[in-house]
Amino acid sequence: MRIAALRERAERESRVALTPETVRKFIALGAELVVETGAGQGAAISDADYVEAGARVTDRAQAVAGADIVLAVQAPDAADLHGAKAGAMVAAIFDPFSREDRVRDYGAAGYEALAMELMPRITRAQSMDVLSSQSNLAGYKSVLLAANAYGRAFPMMMTAAGTVSAARVFVMGVGVAGLQAIATAKRLGAQVSATDVRSATREQIQSLGAKPIFVENVEGIEGEGSGGYASEMSDEYRAAQAELVSAHIAKQDIVITTALIPGRPAPRLISDSQIASMKPGSVIYDLAVAQGGNVEGSRADEAVTVHGVTVIGHANTAGLLAADASALYARNLFNFFSAFWDEESGRPLLDDEIGDAIRLTRDGKVVHPRLGRQSTPE
Ligand code: NAD
Repeated sequence: MRIAALRERAERESRVALTPETVRKFIALGAELVVETGAGQGAAISDADYVEAGARVTDRAQAVAGADIVLAVQAPDAADLHGAKAGAMVAAIFDPFSREDRVRDYGAAGYEALAMELMPRITRAQSMDVLSSQSNLAGYKSVLLAANAYGRAFPMMMTAAGTVSAARVFVMGVGVAGLQAIATAKRLGAQVSATDVRSATREQIQSLGAKPIFVENVEGIEGEGSGGYASEMSDEYRAAQAELVSAHIAKQDIVITTALIPGRPAPRLISDSQIASMKPGSVIYDLAVAQGGNVEGSRADEAVTVHGVTVIGHANTAGLLAADASALYARNLFNFFSAFWDEESGRPLLDDEIGDAIRLTRDGKVVHPRLGRQSTPE
């Protein structure tokens, strides 16, 4: 079983899907590991580190040649995998609903594309969940970046020269990233409030010592939501939410938005006129910027100043912590493959529950139920 890990080609992608730690673990399963030269550079892992762990380091063509499994952070183009075994598994983040063209190419090339971001939210898959591992780091980093862009301090400070008041931080969307953002802002000494559409988050917000801000007059999503996820909200809810946010946001110094709805553009939570109501010098960090953005006017990887408010949002915030993000992502991949490793055949055999949830293509066809099924031309 030959496993290849590639150097990422996407712009601003500094993570890597395999680390020396997971090289050793895969070798212990009986696999042979090949790594593309320079693959770990952005995450402070040298080629020598991989070699020391037992992998072979070589150019891309040779790394891919004869691979049974290819590991990547962002799915490479199918054309770049020329030379991999027929039917090779490719485990990566595929963004399949906005990149159906790429999924079709994988089908046509005969690879088995495994979209790690579609991992079901079930207990046994928690250790394989790349969205969680990366969102957690992104939530932390978003607060640091917002704090850095903010021209004032976060904690209250009583000094001989007078008192510095604590920053008010409002977190919108309390999933994995939002919870970590709340915890990080609290640690920095801010006064934190947070909101979500899922009622289960109210207690989570309180347990972190932050203040829940919820729409009270229109029902949101009871409990956790389906699969832990939110869905699109009614017009009535959105109007009530906009009113609530308008009243609250004008008093905030920092707003971190993290709201996402799987398979859909990010919900718009902050309008231009709401930004205008904030104090000049305030900072908004839009963690959903790559999915269309929660904030009107936010632009990926740019700091824009709107009505005196700085709006920031990196498309790949977790990638700014490349070493930790890679370590966790690589463990997610190892946990996934090792859970299904069949000792007899020396290869992973996926079960239906997880396999069917994440498999996009197999045997020359697009097979995921949420994507158009298409046979490839003979
Ligand atoms: P996500 O990234 O899909 O969305 C981020 C947050 O935005 C969510 O909390 C969502 O409810 C919220 N949101 C969506 N629309 C909104 C709106 N209009 N206004 C305000 N907030 C809005 O979510 P996530 O971080 O992937 O986590 C979602 C849930 O799944 C969490 O409760 C998490 O604990 C749970 N989870 C479970 C597992 C597991 O059991 N294996 C793994 C990971 C996460």
